[in-house]
Amino acid sequence: MRISKLFLPTLKEVPTDAVITSHILMVRAGMIRTLSAGIYSFLPLGYKMIKKVSAIIQREMDAIDGQEFHLPALNPKELWEQTGRVEAFGETMFQIKNRDYVLAPTHEEVIAEIAANHIKSYRDLPQIWYQIQTKFRNETRPRSGVIRGREFLMKDSYSLDATPEGLDKSYDLHAEAYRKIFSACGLKFFEVGASSGAMGGSGSQEFMVESDAGEDTCAICDNCNYAANVEVASAKVADFKRNETSEELKDIHTPNIRTIDELSDFLKIPTVRCAKSRVYMHNEKPILVLMLGNDEVNESKLLSALGGKVRPAHPDELKEITGADAGSIGPIETRMRVIADVKLLNANNMFSGANKNDYHIGGIDFVRDIPQCKFFDLHFVEAGSGCSNCGSKLRVVKAIELGHIFKLGTKYSEALGAKFLDESGKEHSIIMGSYGIGVERIVACLIEQNHDSKGIKWPMEIAPFKVHLLGVNMKNDNVRSTADKIYYEFNESDIETLYDDRNDVSAGFKFNDADLLGMPLQVIIGEKNLAHNRVEIKNRATGEKQLVEIGQVLRTVQSLIT
Ligand code: ATP
Ligand code: MG
Repeated sequence: MRISKLFLPTLKEVPTDAVITSHILMVRAGMIRTLSAGIYSFLPLGYKMIKKVSAIIQREMDAIDGQEFHLPALNPKELWEQTGRVEAFGETMFQIKNRDYVLAPTHEEVIAEIAANHIKSYRDLPQIWYQIQTKFRNETRPRSGVIRGREFLMKDSYSLDATPEGLDKSYDLHAEAYRKIFSACGLKFFEVGASSGAMGGSGSQEFMVESDAGEDTCAICDNCNYAANVEVASAKVADFKRNETSEELKDIHTPNIRTIDELSDFLKIPTVRCAKSRVYMHNEKPILVLMLGNDEVNESKLLSALGGKVRPAHPDELKEITGADAGSIGPIETRMRVIADVKLLNANNMFSGANKNDYHIGGIDFVRDIPQCKFFDLHFVEAGSGCSNCGSKLRVVKAIELGHIFKLGTKYSEALGAKFLDESGKEHSIIMGSYGIGVERIVACLIEQNHDSKGIKWPMEIAPFKVHLLGVNMKNDNVRSTADKIYYEFNESDIETLYDDRNDVSAGFKFNDADLLGMPLQVIIGEKNLAHNRVEIKNRATGEKQLVEIGQVLRTVQSLIT
């Protein structure tokens, strides 16, 4: 492609609405433009990347016998009412004002509706149906560019199976296909098990990319590849260093002392001698949760430890249950059920609230004074903790979710009557799986992982063009004719080439654009080198440069791109 013919509005300045690197660079490199918050136009260079990523996804989905559908985004609201998801999505769902339609945020309903009408028998199963299409979600305050759009492209697929074993197989096929897709895109990714939450069903996994721009937090072990969302991650816990003698319980007047930091300052003790109290309602009965020092309660872990319904107690409930306000609550002489984080196992000489405003109690021995207390892992894993698998130090990193695979079960097939007859003629609900990938997110993550202060550094696997051919001064006849000839040769050899053939911009401008746009190889045709029958080849990622005889350019480039 000749740049003189390409609509490529590159920018020197950082766009005002962009905060994260991939967003800034996609706008600056002329890949996207913002139409409105969370709504983006893909310009030719950006759309080229979308098509490349989509082609890889199609290839790998077809390889597991996925069949591509084209499904409507405009859906009758009634369909979504049957699964209760108009309410479940709430404000996130776009609704058409003057008609009973919604804009589909995902497609379980439409797929289940097609299955309900057309899948009759176990002989029609299994199926893997996928689409690469636009989804609509009214995300609140989208600030991450195409990573969180209100209108975005998703590859989603749905497996339809007759048996749980069939679902396991479809799920494993997807997991493997996803690994191939992300590897073929040149992405460094990791996998975490996740709770399937509101989607229902059992078993799910997320594919993540480490990035400061991420909205998820994960603990990862570089040694054994253990990785988990901090909501569920666990690590080795050091035994509590119990003092030899346990002191007597004693009331301490602590006027206006509420927080752990205030208490530790006031009593001149380390925060780890304090047990923080949090009151929750478990199935509407109060429960006291004790944490070490300033540790926060990991509510996902609390929920899975307790089961049932869990919520923080309201301030007025606190007073009624404990006789004190938050900041003065503790485990001694309480009527509440008491549980504690594992870090507090065998703790003694601890300080906590006295269930009386402006008082705390010292000398608490968990073994002696709260024998009924049960211990669970309720804390968030911290960076540097030992991996529970191999003991190496865990890192806690921000990450972007690229893809998510779920074993859905029969939630949607039941709601929409998607059934099949088994071999003995008995009717069952189809067992579904659901598998999503954010297509634009892949492009943004590639940039998050591959850039420097000058611009993008596309990995060779998926660069929009492999070569950026640059004629330094196109007004010079020798430069122009040599560059034209090389461009012709590259095209003949199917080397995807972006050719900066502009003669109305300066050399500096061209070099800056080449670094900003980030094609892996730059082939630079300049007068001085031409005088010695040479051109320069620069590796954008490493900055390495080499001078090559004109006659060797094609062969050198060919060897560098394979
Ligand atoms: P998130 O937690 O980031 O909102 P999600 O759990 O809502 O993601 P899914 O409903 O599982 O995501 O959608 C499948 C995939 O679609 C995600 O893994 C992500 O890559 C992509 N995706 C989801 N929401 C958006 C969005 N607003 N913009 C761009 N891609 C998105
Ligand atoms: Mg979401």
